[in-house]
Amino acid sequence: MRARRLALCTNAFSPLLRRIRAYIVPVYDYVLVTEPLSSAQRAAIGWRNRQGSAMAAISSTTTGSPATTASSGRYDAIYHFNNGLRAELDNRPASFIKLAGHFFATFPQLEGLRFSHAWGGAIDTCSRFCVFWGTAMGGRVAYAAGYTGLGVASTRFGAEVILDLLSGRPTERTALDSCGASPSPSRPNPCATPASRSPAGPSTAPTTTRHAQPLASHAGFGWAWATTLDVPT
Ligand SMILES: Cc1cc2nc3c(=O)[nH]c(=O)nc-3n(C[C@H](O)[C@H](O)[C@H](O)COP(=O)(O)OP(=O)(O)OC[C@H]3O[C@@H](n4cnc5c(N)ncnc54)[C@H](O)[C@@H]3O)c2cc1C
Repeated sequence: MRARRLALCTNAFSPLLRRIRAYIVPVYDYVLVTEPLSSAQRAAIGWRNRQGSAMAAISSTTTGSPATTASSGRYDAIYHFNNGLRAELDNRPASFIKLAGHFFATFPQLEGLRFSHAWGGAIDTCSRFCVFWGTAMGGRVAYAAGYTGLGVASTRFGAEVILDLLSGRPTERTALDSCGASPSPSRPNPCATPASRSPAGPSTAPTTTRHAQPLASHAGFGWAWATTLDVPT
C-alpha cells in the first residue's frame, strides 16, 4: 500500500510504530449482559428510562440499555504474560463470576435474572489512562492510542485530532495539552511478568492500579500508587 499520509489506530494490537510499544499495554476487560428485564423487574429497581449507575469507587458500570437488559462490567484489567493477545483470552469465567457478584450485590431485587451474553476483549491502557497522540516520519504518520477502554465516543475525537495532525495545520484540538505530550512509559514488566506466572493468576501493574482505586480514599494506597504513574490524583 502506498500513501502520502498514514493514520495508525491499532488500539490494543501490536503497534506498527515501535515507539508506541513503550506506552501501551494490552489488558483484558469483561462484560456481562442480562436477558431482558420484565416490567416487574424494572419497576423493582426503579428504572423507567435509560438510567445507569457508574460505581466509580470500584470502576464498575451497570447500565440499563434501551432493550431493557442490564449489564455489568468494566472492572477487571487482566494482563497476560508477554502482552498476550489471543482469542481464547476473551473468555474468562473467573471475571464473569466476579461481575455477576457485583451485579447482584448492586441489584439484589434482580436475584434469579440470568446473563445471556458474556464477553471480553483487549483494551490499550497507558499510564495516563486516556488517549494520547503523536506523529512520526516528519508528520506523515500520526497515531492515537491508550484509550484504556473508553473509546466508543472518544475514538471519533481521536480521529479528528489525527486528521488535524496529518494536515499539518494547528487547530484548537492540536493546541490541547493532552495532544502535546506523551504519557510516561508503561511499566507492566518486570512487575507483570513474574506475577502473571503465579498460581494465583495474572495480577499486575494494571490490575494493581484498578485495585488501588477503591482503597484510595481509605488508606492512601491508591494515591501513592497513582503518583507513580502519570495520572491526576
Ligand atoms: C469488554 C469491553 C468493554 C468495553 N466497554 C466500553 C464502554 O463501555 N465504553 C467505551 O467507550 N468503550 C468500551 N470499550 C472500548 C471500546 O470498545 C474501544 O475503545 C474501541 O472499540 C476502540 O476503537 P478503535 O477503533 O480504537 O480500535 P478497534 O475497534 O480495536 O480497531 C482497531 C483495528 O485495527 C486493526 N489492526 C490492528 N493491527 C493492525 C495491523 N497491523 N494492520 C491492519 N489493521 C490492524 C484491527 O483489526 C482492528 O480492526 C470496551 C472494550 C471491551 C473489550
